[in-house]
Amino acid sequence: MPDQLIKAMAADGRIRVVAAITTNLVAEACRRHQTSPTASAALGKALTGGVLLSESLLKDSKGSLTVRIIGNGPLGGVLVDAKANGAVRGYVAHPDIHLPPAESGTFDVGGAVGRQGTLSVTLDPGSGKPFSGTVELLSGELSDDFTHYMAASQQTPSAIALGIFVGREGDVEASGGLMVQMMPDAGDEIAWRLEQAVRELPAITELLRRGDTLDQILEKALSGFAFEIIERSEHIRFECQCSEDRVMRAIASLGPKEIQSIIEEDGKAEVRCHFCNEEYHLSRQQLEELLAS
Ligand SMILES: [Zn+2]
Repeated sequence: MPDQLIKAMAADGRIRVVAAITTNLVAEACRRHQTSPTASAALGKALTGGVLLSESLLKDSKGSLTVRIIGNGPLGGVLVDAKANGAVRGYVAHPDIHLPPAESGTFDVGGAVGRQGTLSVTLDPGSGKPFSGTVELLSGELSDDFTHYMAASQQTPSAIALGIFVGREGDVEASGGLMVQMMPDAGDEIAWRLEQAVRELPAITELLRRGDTLDQILEKALSGFAFEIIERSEHIRFECQCSEDRVMRAIASLGPKEIQSIIEEDGKAEVRCHFCNEEYHLSRQQLEELLAS
């Protein structure tokens, strides 16, 4: 089944919800980057957080959103790039970092990312100027940090829950997230009821793991509210924009001198894409053609 995304609203539009099951997208990213279980948890949560933000902040089907998490932990930085058309990619600087579980028994994402640092989001609406916002990390656990970003930079009180379940073999078995946003005019009563509902929601990882659908998750998150589904889609996926053509252009931009020295020293070029870990091999002949053009 492809990954799922759902958007809903309640209380006459004063509550908005975006929820996503991102298992395929996250499993593909982790497979490509050969992440340890701890790194998978961090990358998976960051990818899902990027999806929730891009789906709620990008208005049309164009534009993109980039999340940069730079913490003081051994993972050394996480980058996620989510396009409004559903193509998502990302990586962590040190995918082999693995830590013992945290006291709660869950992956120590905060320890891997680091409890101090920053989370920055750059929003490129597709037309007009990109803009960005940065917040300090609260815990490095990412759910808190994305929530903090929404409150501080977007001035929208939100609750963001990100979950991932990695099996014994290290495979990503379930991944997803939920963002509940409250519009500024929602008022105290709605805020209080929503807080109760969100507080009583079981851990998102448990819901995903036992196979709850997004509709079921939504019903629990908005328990007591009548809600309306405004969008369902299956467009989110792992997808990178790199290609041999782009690699050729990047090498061409080094200039003839540099290309000549690559030909003389190595006789070929190997380029790896950070985002998807795809490796490109350019032969001597390709480099010489590049030089000649
Ligand atoms: Zn790539």
